[in-house]
Amino acid sequence: MAKKRKKKEVDDRFKKFGTVSFTSISKVNDFITYLEQGKVMGTRCKKCGTVHFPPVADCAECLSSDVDWFEVSGTGKLVSFSKLIYAPVGFEEDLPYSIALLDYGDYKVFGRISRDIAEEQLEIGLAMKTEPITLSSGQLSYAFTKA
Ligand SMILES: [Zn+2]
Repeated sequence: MAKKRKKKEVDDRFKKFGTVSFTSISKVNDFITYLEQGKVMGTRCKKCGTVHFPPVADCAECLSSDVDWFEVSGTGKLVSFSKLIYAPVGFEEDLPYSIALLDYGDYKVFGRISRDIAEEQLEIGLAMKTEPITLSSGQLSYAFTKA
């Protein structure tokens, strides 16, 4: 007989993302909803103005919970990158891929580089943009492409 359990109210939108390193809390789950809408979003503290990516529910600087969403748009500069041979749990199927850090001025975005870009084309200072993608596993994520 099938197990009958009372359905718990769980916000599991983050399962659509690769989990790992992101805190699975309701507020930050909006990140996934934005990805579904084609937007990569971070949070900005309304109190002190500190910008966070990945998004946070509480500001790491002043601990205020009064944070607002903003879209990661425009171009960032490639500040570092490296090819991954081992991936975090949930991302193994996508190997090999490169991870990188983009500098957007008042914040930095850490993520993966789109497969559309050959490794030889990568160089520090390259202008790139952040775009939502769907991984082979069906999980939502984002990747860096040439601006
Ligand atoms: Zn703050």
